[in-house]
Amino acid sequence: MPNPQFPTTTSRDHYDVVIIGGATSGSSIAWHLVNEKGFSGSVLVVERDPSLQLSATKASNNCMRQQFATQINIEIAQYAAEFVKKFGSQFGDDPCVPVPPIRNFGYLYLSDSKRFTEILQKDQQLQSSLGAGTHMLSADKVKCQYPFLLTDDLDSASLNTKDEGCFNAIGMVDWMRKFAINNGVEYINNEVVEMVTNGDQVESIKLRNGEKISVQNIVNAAGTRAAQVSTMAGINDLPIEARRRYTFIFSVDEPLPQDLPLTIDPTGVHLRSYGPRDYLVGCPPIGPDIAVNIEDFSFAENVWEEKIFPTISRRVPKFRTARVTDSWMGHYEFNTFDHNAIIGLHTAIKNFYFCVGFSGHGSQQAPACGRAVAELIVHGAFKSLDLSALSYSRIPEGRPLTERAVI
Ligand SMILES: Cc1cc2nc3c(=O)[nH]c(=O)nc-3n(C[C@H](O)[C@H](O)[C@H](O)COP(=O)(O)OP(=O)(O)OC[C@H]3O[C@@H](n4cnc5c(N)ncnc54)[C@H](O)[C@@H]3O)c2cc1C
Repeated sequence: MPNPQFPTTTSRDHYDVVIIGGATSGSSIAWHLVNEKGFSGSVLVVERDPSLQLSATKASNNCMRQQFATQINIEIAQYAAEFVKKFGSQFGDDPCVPVPPIRNFGYLYLSDSKRFTEILQKDQQLQSSLGAGTHMLSADKVKCQYPFLLTDDLDSASLNTKDEGCFNAIGMVDWMRKFAINNGVEYINNEVVEMVTNGDQVESIKLRNGEKISVQNIVNAAGTRAAQVSTMAGINDLPIEARRRYTFIFSVDEPLPQDLPLTIDPTGVHLRSYGPRDYLVGCPPIGPDIAVNIEDFSFAENVWEEKIFPTISRRVPKFRTARVTDSWMGHYEFNTFDHNAIIGLHTAIKNFYFCVGFSGHGSQQAPACGRAVAELIVHGAFKSLDLSALSYSRIPEGRPLTERAVI
């Protein structure tokens, strides 16, 4: 990911839209705003770290899937696939836009129990009814299709190889950001540290360098810092916290003869093809999956030795020669209320928008959610895909829309 040199100060003292956070969500909103017919307002994106080094965006495994358990997430994923496939044409077929299409090796959910098979079947029916290519496989069929996988303990699996796999999420952010800037959006390297509210409006924000800016609309796209940013506007109930997620890249002596789908082992370890001879594997913590300090990026556990290597070398015996070549720990911006994104206006502060809480699926949800927030700002309503099921109001009203299929 390039580290662009943004200015630290703004060119004006008022903006029609200020977006806090310039990673995948913030950049998608900026990009969709400049592309939204009827919008000619001023847009400022404030990003405290333009290298995005510690953002969830940078840590992403860059995968996309339609195997969700809620209709809205399936529809969001379908838009993401269309968006990525048409990426070049959205930039006027600029030959410099290097966003390769989706690598369609699919997701393979492995089930080792009748109970989980029933859940997969129910999800598969919903996904198929919406046009996704998911189908169920018996353990024998899994063995037939992926002979290198150990299947003795399996009951079934679900697989979709249509518009599901991995994509260049970081390339997408980089290009959305570049095109937004070329179309008049200002990005600055600074931090929003304070907000002044007046009844039901945020009137102004204060930056780290003391600069004050008055705002018409403000968007919280601050990832794991979303709750902290919301408190600046007196919103103290945003249920978002940072959760550890580990990723390792490894190579093997003898690569598999075909692509490995993003395979979700019943242990929660998930792995997929990465390069021609190497693989990506990720997992949640070994211990309890609890909130961590947003500044803490340490490897708190021996996840490779204790969890990942035993799991992958059992599931794929050829991976006994696995050697780690890279690793990182990133934070999910985890919505503890229902593991789903929170999109749209606050109920009391009438110019405060959310685009937060993606709980591990924000790279693929950025296109649809960025478009939705842009539509709300420009038209006061969703125009393409109605995301009102993801509105903030469900939190104070106690109406969770739980997404079960969180990896
Ligand atoms: C290990 C891991 C693997 C993942 N894999 C996938 C995957 O395969 N597929 C998928 O779809 N999703 C995946 N995700 C989730 C996805 O990466 C995130 O949901 C998504 O990147 C969130 O983007 P965001 O822009 O909302 O937040 P972030 O990427 O966290 O960006 C928020 C930005 O806001 C800035 N900011 C915060 N506060 C302020 C402030 N006060 N002032 C100025 N700037 C501020 C931060 O510096 C940051 O750059 C993964 C996440 C992790 C951690």
